[in-house]
Amino acid sequence: MTQNPETTEQRTPPLQAVAADTSRARTKWPTGIGLALIHVGALAALLPAFFSWSGVGVMFLLWYLTGAIGVSLCFHRTLTHRSLKLVKPFEYLTAFIGTLALEGGPIDWVSTHRKHHAHTDKDGDPHNAHKGLMWTHFEWLYRPNEGRCSPEEERRYSPDLVKDPYYRFLDRFHVPLQILLGVALFHFGGWSWVVWGMFVRLVMVYHITWFVNSAAHHYGYQTYRSGDKSTNCWWVGLLSWGEGWHNNHHAFPFSAQHGMEWYEFDLSWHTIKILKALGLASAIRVPTPEMRSRLRATPASAALKDR
Ligand SMILES: [Zn+2]
Ligand SMILES: [Zn+2]
Repeated sequence: MTQNPETTEQRTPPLQAVAADTSRARTKWPTGIGLALIHVGALAALLPAFFSWSGVGVMFLLWYLTGAIGVSLCFHRTLTHRSLKLVKPFEYLTAFIGTLALEGGPIDWVSTHRKHHAHTDKDGDPHNAHKGLMWTHFEWLYRPNEGRCSPEEERRYSPDLVKDPYYRFLDRFHVPLQILLGVALFHFGGWSWVVWGMFVRLVMVYHITWFVNSAAHHYGYQTYRSGDKSTNCWWVGLLSWGEGWHNNHHAFPFSAQHGMEWYEFDLSWHTIKILKALGLASAIRVPTPEMRSRLRATPASAALKDR
């Protein structure tokens, strides 16, 4: 394991005045209506006509692939924070899978999240926890939001991704790719695969991801003095493949390991260890014990810091 305290966010140049982007002051109706329709589609799962056990199986498979591998491992820990390196074809494959979570393409997702770390719970944070639980859960996505990334900010926050035509392709075509997936699900399994494999799965991955921004900035405990409202929330940690150990993450954003105590189960961390053994992951970054002691929110650690 390599250890390097430098974070991607720290390398991000300070923001300058951004040209007025009026789109941020308006409601994003396509996003809001799209999210509402996906939830309505998921309600169809209550109808027996749309049930099949194979559909439930496809839902769990795609839930794991798009959420755990696509969003947590690739979008968050690999692309946003560069906490590890994946072999390039595998990075591209996992980014494609992450795009199928329909949370925006990788450039949009990574820029928004790097901005969240640069301005956590302050003005400029796309989902500032001081604006309430519902805002951080989903309202920030479609309501007027001055913290939302402009195209100019996307270029500023994610130059490493913007320069890659493959990532620009995924960003541009993330909606058509989801529709193609829906067509494939219908072809192979009929409507039950569409309802469960697409709508139910999207809603599950959405709310699990959103809980990291909402519940894991409100409920739980703070092991480290991260200087924000981020918390370690046990049930979000279990649901979100380890992402809910969010206070640890804000304290050490460069760390590939989010669950740091024996009881903080972190599925993505175990996945990373397996990928390392397979030769697919390298340059895995974690904080040193000394770095952890220095930030630990106890009187003893405060004394250590002052020495
Ligand atoms: Zn956060
Ligand atoms: Zn992060």
